[in-house]
Amino acid sequence: MTILVTGGAGYIGSHTCIELLNQGHKVVVVDNLVNSHSESLQRVEELTGKNIPFYAVDLSNEAEITKVFSEHSIEAVIHFAGLKAVGESVKQPIRYYDNNIRSTLVLCKLMQSFSVKHLVFSSSATVYGLAESNPIPETAPLSATNPYGRTKLFIEYILNDWITTFDGASVALLRYFNPVGAHASGRIGEDPQGIPNNLMPYITQVAAVRREKLSIFGNDYDTVDGTGVRDYIHVVDLAMGHVKALDALIHLTGSHVYNLGTGNGTSVLELVQAFQQATGQPIPYEISARRPGDVATCFADSSKAERELNWKAVRGIVEMCRDSWKWQKENPNGYK
Ligand code: NAD
Ligand code: UDP
Repeated sequence: MTILVTGGAGYIGSHTCIELLNQGHKVVVVDNLVNSHSESLQRVEELTGKNIPFYAVDLSNEAEITKVFSEHSIEAVIHFAGLKAVGESVKQPIRYYDNNIRSTLVLCKLMQSFSVKHLVFSSSATVYGLAESNPIPETAPLSATNPYGRTKLFIEYILNDWITTFDGASVALLRYFNPVGAHASGRIGEDPQGIPNNLMPYITQVAAVRREKLSIFGNDYDTVDGTGVRDYIHVVDLAMGHVKALDALIHLTGSHVYNLGTGNGTSVLELVQAFQQATGQPIPYEISARRPGDVATCFADSSKAERELNWKAVRGIVEMCRDSWKWQKENPNGYK
């Protein structure tokens, strides 16, 4: 199949392009490079030996995206494009609503007019808000605590409404837990701009002595050691989840939601220890105040994806730490 990958130059998108190409699909990428570099796609081409037609345009530019649909026989879309920084979304809510929602509306409109019937959407565990119990199934109540999360929630509702008007079409809403790790080659990985918000890129920058020490946000939660517990998932497992979702969507109609996580919770201290063991790099840390808005624990019930998509995460915490470190060590300044 020929797949349009929006946001394909980004962290999860570039890893997914590799898996799609390895499975024999053709890939076309649209990305305005607001949070990525085209170098990632050159490296994907290098790793796979395949060519990727690339459009450096904004997904909300209807005229440009019409051209993309006209120039390729696109059969399905994987939609990663979006802004994703929670803190930034609180400061710039209109930019987030405009970018994430308007681009999705343009995409839906053009998919329908070009009769492209299958869409995989990047949602997030953030749509579970402050979940009350774990593991979290897809049926848990939905809410959001910040503008970024609300864009994901609103887009889920929009896609659910849209799909009922599109005969024979199907959409998969994939709710990711905490993606970490990098391609085993060390050639592509996460390239955060500025000070990382997320735990794993912060740890790798401490290991690389780019930052002095890690601040652990709270050690008085009701968890195994008092620090926050999350469901870290290797980005290559996550990428494979998209391939599996696409395989399933071809035979489905309507909207289908899946959690993509491992089902295992890991605390901040456990991740720090695993990283030190896997890489031999010391991670100095201090305990600081809780980060506002953080929940104690969040991990997935991913049994639906296992049952219906025949997908399961297979890479463990050691592999996640090792691959994150290889990427950081071999690319100290990311793609720059
Ligand atoms: P990323 O920032 O690396 O990738 C997103 C890509 O979209 C970037 O390359 C960016 O340049 C592009 N983009 C943004 N707005 C665009 C627009 N209007 N037109 C064209 N391109 C645009 O982020 P990622 O971590 O790869 O995340 C991919 C998707 O998964 C996002 O939608 C994100 O919200 C979602 N998600 C990510 C996480 C995570 O922790 N990484 C967790 C849950 C969900
Ligand atoms: N965390 C931390 N220090 C950091 C970044 C994160 O202690 O510099 C903690 C955070 O409080 C949470 C866990 O690490 O318990 C995962 O945080 P991240 O931002 O990576 O993911 P999210 O909270 O969005 O699930």
